[in-house]
Amino acid sequence: MTKYASFYQRSIEDRDGFWAEQADLIDWQVKPSQICDYSKPPFAHWFVGGTTNLCHNAVDRHLKDRADQPALIYVSTETGQEITYSFAQLCDEVQRMAAILQSLGVKQGDRVLIYMPMIAEAAFAMLACVRIGAIHSVVFGGFASHSLATRIDDASPVLIISADAGSRGGKVVPYKPLLDEAISLSQHKPSAVLMVDRGLSAFTSVPGLDYAYAELRQQHMNAKVACVWLDSAHPSYTLYTSGTTGKPKGVQRDTGGYTVALAASMQHIFEGQAGQVYFSTSDIGWVVGHSYIIYGPLLAGMATLMYEGLPTRPHGGVWWELVEKYKVTHMFSAPTAVRVLKKQDPALLSAYDISSLKALYLAGEPLDEPTAQWIADGLGKPIIDNYWQTETGWPILTVANGVQKMPSKFGSPGVPMYGFNVKLLSDSTGEELTGAQEKGVVVIEGPLPPGCLQTLWGDDERFVKTYWQSVPGKLVYSTFDWGVRDEDGYFYILGRTDDVINVAGHRLGTREIEESISSHPNVAEVAVVGVADALKGQVAMAFVVAKDTSALGDANARLKLEGEIMKLVDSQLGAVARPSRVLFLSLLPKTRSGKLLRRAIQAVCEKRDPGDLTTIDDPTPLQQIKQQLDV
Ligand code: AMP
Repeated sequence: MTKYASFYQRSIEDRDGFWAEQADLIDWQVKPSQICDYSKPPFAHWFVGGTTNLCHNAVDRHLKDRADQPALIYVSTETGQEITYSFAQLCDEVQRMAAILQSLGVKQGDRVLIYMPMIAEAAFAMLACVRIGAIHSVVFGGFASHSLATRIDDASPVLIISADAGSRGGKVVPYKPLLDEAISLSQHKPSAVLMVDRGLSAFTSVPGLDYAYAELRQQHMNAKVACVWLDSAHPSYTLYTSGTTGKPKGVQRDTGGYTVALAASMQHIFEGQAGQVYFSTSDIGWVVGHSYIIYGPLLAGMATLMYEGLPTRPHGGVWWELVEKYKVTHMFSAPTAVRVLKKQDPALLSAYDISSLKALYLAGEPLDEPTAQWIADGLGKPIIDNYWQTETGWPILTVANGVQKMPSKFGSPGVPMYGFNVKLLSDSTGEELTGAQEKGVVVIEGPLPPGCLQTLWGDDERFVKTYWQSVPGKLVYSTFDWGVRDEDGYFYILGRTDDVINVAGHRLGTREIEESISSHPNVAEVAVVGVADALKGQVAMAFVVAKDTSALGDANARLKLEGEIMKLVDSQLGAVARPSRVLFLSLLPKTRSGKLLRRAIQAVCEKRDPGDLTTIDDPTPLQQIKQQLDV
């Protein structure tokens, strides 16, 4: 048996022994008395009786050995700001922020919603929350007022932290008007809003609600706020992700399990060492941002490079310039970003000294072989795919080079990571598929390892129903992805089993977009389908049956309505969810029993054979799609 195979086997067969050792990677105030309580499946309680603190382990713990070493390197090519905080300086900033939170009434267990661009204050805010046991809920800055309002209602935060604006491609993107509108739309109202004013976009403060960060920071300049020792199961944060219904799911993570899981991943998967520099190009609004911009690298005593800007501005080599300048050792990005770079001059990949870089990790969406090969050749560095989900918090499939060097195979994210008891099940019988090249649903047997979601915020029942009851008679966690395994045990991910789509590595629920489009007065019926796209992996396309078809008389009228619908999605959900096209049909393609033929629509749009159409009620709409797309 290989070294990794026995490491993996032990994690499954001697679960408690294995994770007890991993638990030693972090500081505990009280050591756990039990490693895993799985007496109420599928709810796993990790490190029972232990008390710890995520901020202590990420920041304070390093003060003894590396107080002056870089911890947070902030670079914005949008504003030109570039600043490095040592661990000591980061600790000071986090304590100031923690004191501000306390002064605004935030207590242990309270939720704090963070709606911020990529600025250092966002990192301070997240760390300050977990320092005092407040539960942060970061909402991606690209989401607009309606999406934000649903999340405010679900999380019911005491405080919202935001900023005047973000900036993208040199264009100021105001946040404050969207936030004001979201608060007016939501049922729940926060007690306070803390505003970071970057001086990018003037805004009006709401008296009695809005507080200026700069002012309060000044008041708490010398604040000392100790880390609060929290029960291992205390929620550290919630992070919303899309599912098949319109209501986003609040993925809830614990404190002890998450801290141990990330610390272990930094060692076994990323081979990170204190003093090295980690550059993840994600956004704090996504799970990769939580685990590998903020917490993971800091837990390992590494510096984390937080970047606001595009990969192509001011020039297409800017990332590699940063690698050279800050001696970045680890990079983490998404396939879409690499496909964007592919359009740049390839000479830029070798124009800088990137000798410090050990590997580039990519995740979030399928990594196609040509893209992987292109970047591998261009950089001359290992390209390591990793497959995971918002729910799991760290990779399910990849290679654990820190345990044993294993080759990566392009097209495959890799093998199951320790702790993840990954299986493939037949979708028709629920039977386990053990042979090579057999296609099945990727599931994980409980308990999920440390770091994965404990439950969905405020909804244990939805957690069980959504994830654990999709295979009749079997209590297994479904990833809702199709997969196959090859002869060497490497998995290949073949796409989603549900209606969730993946646009540029961002998971979107088609239902949410459909609900938004339905609110247009001239929309009778709508279907949103994910369609393959060379750059973004997938894009959303909307198919609309209009109420008043006389408004669609000519091409101009159709364009006008298409524009209105796109604008509506933009303003309610944000540009990430905007469909790339809106097509108008006389009716939606459905079976005689009324089920929408998503796969057939998708196939037509992708110029593939739509397959068996014997159950179709009326083929006209598929013809209409063909005509409009000219395929
Ligand atoms: P999210 O929770 O938004 O990160 O989305 C997770 C989903 O993205 C997974 O269920 C997969 O469908 C897809 N995904 C993530 N990483 C990969 C990968 N390396 N290869 C293929 N699909 C991926």
